[in-house]
Amino acid sequence: RAKEAGRNQAQYYSRNFHEQIEKRARLETDLSKAIDDDQFILHYQPQVDVDGKRLVGIEALIRWQHPQLGMISPDEFIPIAEESNFINELGRWVIRTACAQFSHWLERFNTAEIHFSVAVNLSAKQLKDKGLIDYCRDCIEHYKIPPKRFELELTESNLVSSLDAVDTLNELAEIGVELALDDFGTGYSSLSHLKAYPFSILKIDKSFVQSAKPGQDECMLKAVCAFAKSLNYKTVAEGIETEQQHKLCAELNIDRLQGYYFGRPSEVDVIEQKWLA
Ligand code: C2E
Ligand code: MG
Ligand code: MG
Ligand code: MG
Repeated sequence: RAKEAGRNQAQYYSRNFHEQIEKRARLETDLSKAIDDDQFILHYQPQVDVDGKRLVGIEALIRWQHPQLGMISPDEFIPIAEESNFINELGRWVIRTACAQFSHWLERFNTAEIHFSVAVNLSAKQLKDKGLIDYCRDCIEHYKIPPKRFELELTESNLVSSLDAVDTLNELAEIGVELALDDFGTGYSSLSHLKAYPFSILKIDKSFVQSAKPGQDECMLKAVCAFAKSLNYKTVAEGIETEQQHKLCAELNIDRLQGYYFGRPSEVDVIEQKWLA
């Protein structure tokens, strides 16, 4: 009987595995048509200042509205897009769409009053796209975006410490945009190499915020924060979900706060109603 149970389980796992492979293959095929079919949308999540009141940043996060499979999260399809060159086309769509949206906000709300930045996520694989730098520069010029207000986020684990990457990042920084290291503390980049990269912002990973309980793992968040500040990085804390986490981040004087506690990633209308009305 044990043998039979084992066999059933093995069948279950292999069926499951098979389904996963099929889904992946399907997503891979469907991805290539999804831009033209308008199936991608950017959601926007607010970043606020230390007392939680003023909007200081907005991060664009991509979603895929699949006609049959429903909403698919970037954690599922970005890795698939990264395996093909499609990430380059998709990444450009994200940059273009976020710039267009930002320029709309700049026009609607008198540029002088705009005190927030807009951030997009970049896959490290896009740094190999020879046309990326010109594309960013052209978008920023075309949409009249103040470059200092446009941020590119790269995750630490995604970033291979190759010389190529440093050169490309330096060229991006020369356009005047800000570069942020995302999910900081979860990758394995050597801290001593960090200063070789032109990042001006460290986004402290949500795991540090969420494991922080007074007197307990709080010391990890404090240490990461002290490290970032002593090297003069601007700091952003991700994943703030509770009042207590907000309080702790405020005590640590983290420059910008982001998380469900202040607002979930949402469609343009929601962001405008809550933060730009
Ligand atoms: P990320 O850039 O670190 O974005 C933060 C993620 O944490 C988002 O997940 C966001 O919805 C989620 N989040 C925000 N506040 C909270 C909170 O309080 N609690 C918790 N538990 N989660 C929170 P999302 O939107 O599913 O994106 C996942 C990742 O996919 C992003 O992580 C980013 O690495 C990648 N991604 C998203 N959009 C793009 C894109 O346009 N291009 C590329 N290359 N990657 C993207
Ligand atoms: Mg990000
Ligand atoms: Mg992050
Ligand atoms: Mg992440």
